[in-house]
Amino acid sequence: MTAPEPAPYVGRFAPSPTGPLHFGSLVAATASYLQARTRRGQWLLRVEDIDPPREQAGATDAILNALDRYGFEWDTEIIFQSSRHERHLEALESLIERHLAYPCGCSRKDLVDAPRGPLGIIYPGTCRDGCDAKETAIRLRTTNAPITFADKLQGPQTQCLESESGDFVIRRRDRLIAYHLAVVVDDAIDEVTEIVRGIDLMDSTPRQIWLQRLLGCRTPDYLHIPVITHPNGDKLSKLTGAKAVPMQGVSRALCAALVALQQNPPPTLPHCGLSDIWQWAMENWQIQAMQGQTAVSTDSAGLAAVGPGIW
Ligand code: GLU
Repeated sequence: MTAPEPAPYVGRFAPSPTGPLHFGSLVAATASYLQARTRRGQWLLRVEDIDPPREQAGATDAILNALDRYGFEWDTEIIFQSSRHERHLEALESLIERHLAYPCGCSRKDLVDAPRGPLGIIYPGTCRDGCDAKETAIRLRTTNAPITFADKLQGPQTQCLESESGDFVIRRRDRLIAYHLAVVVDDAIDEVTEIVRGIDLMDSTPRQIWLQRLLGCRTPDYLHIPVITHPNGDKLSKLTGAKAVPMQGVSRALCAALVALQQNPPPTLPHCGLSDIWQWAMENWQIQAMQGQTAVSTDSAGLAAVGPGIW
């Protein structure tokens, strides 16, 4: 008997249009792109536009223009998560019908005294056996069976969801589908085989694996890369004032992303054109260079030398 063929590699970059592409997201895009290309895989671009209150006008165009300017090439039409609404609802309904999810009328105020852990509020299960509120969120039931996965960079990870997060929201009280549910449904539809993203999302992964199990979806491989931080340790983000990646001098900024990814590009590379930089990056890509690393500060020696003005 011959072993079944492994599924062809499919990777993705899935930005939320809450602001322009900043250096931290350029680094994540670069890692997922190089990982897909060096495995002769597909690389998909999915705009996660299902949270209008958090979106910023013009952000989608700004992100797409920047990715194009930096020479990223995606393999299918751009996917807009909002176009999948029916599929998200179907998944939600199936969980509710099987009593795996339930309405919850608790407001933030109702939960002020709830215990807190590293993942935030640990939902105490108030509405598990019913609630008569009109406006409700929908929560997914959890158990304490440990959820484990082996991150390809960060090693083995385990969470017991019931005691670490409690039952969690999969549809918000404002009726918007929550990130965890949407991302699981979409990665399954897109047949993503490996997820490369920032380590700030690593502690979301067990909740997503739990959803995959309940929905009968395959669990992809996971690889969480270090986050880029300001010198004070805060993650680069819109909230911490990270600016848009430059649209001029893109060679230097792309090389800075490679430095952040511990790829050790030669000092002459920032003076080359984009296609030479991508070629070098693909020929030399070593994801393991980041093994176990969780954060890279913009004032670390390598980045400070190549990056002034980029973040
Ligand atoms: N849309 C999420 C973000 O921009 C990323 C989702 C993911 O990679 O799973 O933070």
